[in-house]
Amino acid sequence: MPNSSPEPYLDLTDEEVFARISAARAALGGDALVLGHHYQTEAVVRFADVRGDSYELSKKAAGSDARLIVFCGVHFMAESADILTRPEQTVVMPDLDAGCPMADMASLGELESAWVQLAELGRPDELFLPVTYINSRAEVKAFCGLHGGLICTSANAGKALTWALQQRPKTFFLPDQHLGHNTALAQGIPPEEITLWDPVLPLGGNTREALRQARVLLWKGHCHVHTRFSPAHVAQARQAHPGALVVVHPECVHEVVAASDAAGSTGFIVRYIENAPPGSTIIVGTEINLITRLARQYRDRTILPLVSSMCPNMYKNSPRDLLHVLENPGRVNVVRVADEVREPARLALQRMLDL
Ligand code: SF4
Repeated sequence: MPNSSPEPYLDLTDEEVFARISAARAALGGDALVLGHHYQTEAVVRFADVRGDSYELSKKAAGSDARLIVFCGVHFMAESADILTRPEQTVVMPDLDAGCPMADMASLGELESAWVQLAELGRPDELFLPVTYINSRAEVKAFCGLHGGLICTSANAGKALTWALQQRPKTFFLPDQHLGHNTALAQGIPPEEITLWDPVLPLGGNTREALRQARVLLWKGHCHVHTRFSPAHVAQARQAHPGALVVVHPECVHEVVAASDAAGSTGFIVRYIENAPPGSTIIVGTEINLITRLARQYRDRTILPLVSSMCPNMYKNSPRDLLHVLENPGRVNVVRVADEVREPARLALQRMLDL
């Protein structure tokens, strides 16, 4: 469905928009569930029934009876919600153009081509188990489902990798090389057994020997929001705030993770700050909207960004867009995954939920 424009709302003041969102939300009652990702702006997330990271919100969508699921996040998240919900439920997004560049770094065609090339080493379905981060297209998730693989989030990537390596000798992890790299190292995989797969190069830019030696292949994708942070930023922050704790997201490069006190999913970062003692200073390497909200919430702690890094894709969902989908329930901005993709993708998601 094309992204229907909320032009009629452009003449409204912010206060009018907020009042009409509240009225539309109240009119829908239990028929709707509004999910807000932590990286949404305060103006949008304040209307969410549930806030969380992509994993928490997927589980909420899966367990909901609401007829309308309004997903304030990016496209792959709404697709995951559609895969996990029942046919009579409808998933919509405030702005269908809110995509994720990292998810778009791995296409089904490139993945199929990789599988054909890996046949040079033996039967790929016996040698490699595909594991995709939930930040991926539905077709990529479906490929994993069809080839015995599963989906992971930043919260359970370690468990997923351990499981994958129990099933087959090697794991093909995509699309985020940094989450895969940090997870593999944390699981004790030696660096010489981890190899990057560049989808635009023959054999992913590897020799046959390197591929034979590798236990973990990492797709060459990244998140531009989290790769903005460098080890120099960590050193500068520590110099400016002696005694501060540094916590970052595992989509950061390994050198940043290694220089930090802790690394973990968005949910982990929220709990890390919750559990920090009053009076402490915590420097956070993740998306700025979450950090600003946490700083407002925990005023007895000093919570600072490593540097300010915003996800412009999450930012596309505006309050006017939210009003538009709430006043036209199920009629605009519907996210519907094709049936032939839905079932194998659901299988890969279910393997994750079963872990
Ligand atoms: S923060 Fe990174 S991974 Fe998350 S939606 Fe934005 S671009 Fe994608």
